[in-house]
Amino acid sequence: MRQQARKPFDKSKIPQDLCPIATELSELKTGDWRAERPVVDRDKCVKCATCWLYCPTQCVEEKPTWFEAGLEICKGCGVCAQECPHQAIAMVEEVEE
Ligand code: SF4
Ligand code: SF4
Repeated sequence: MRQQARKPFDKSKIPQDLCPIATELSELKTGDWRAERPVVDRDKCVKCATCWLYCPTQCVEEKPTWFEAGLEICKGCGVCAQECPHQAIAMVEEVEE
């Protein structure tokens, strides 16, 4: 039998404090650092789903007669407001609650 060139990897020898940032899950959500939030004018929204299609975080949710951003994930990029063909979305400054 051919001898292995290297010994098998022994993960018990990895120091516990090695690179803790990369090994621990972060609770940070993209919605935590939003500077502006999209606000939908429900009277103007025709549920065309363009905002849903273009949102880079896929956070737009369907409601009974309109679409709106899921604010936990929405990062406030404004793409939805830019792309809405009915100008139904306004970006407004985020305020601390
Ligand atoms: S793109 Fe505008 S009109 Fe279309 S679903 Fe979104 S908010 Fe409504
Ligand atoms: S602001 Fe950006 S992340 Fe938020 S819903 Fe609109 S497109 Fe999506």
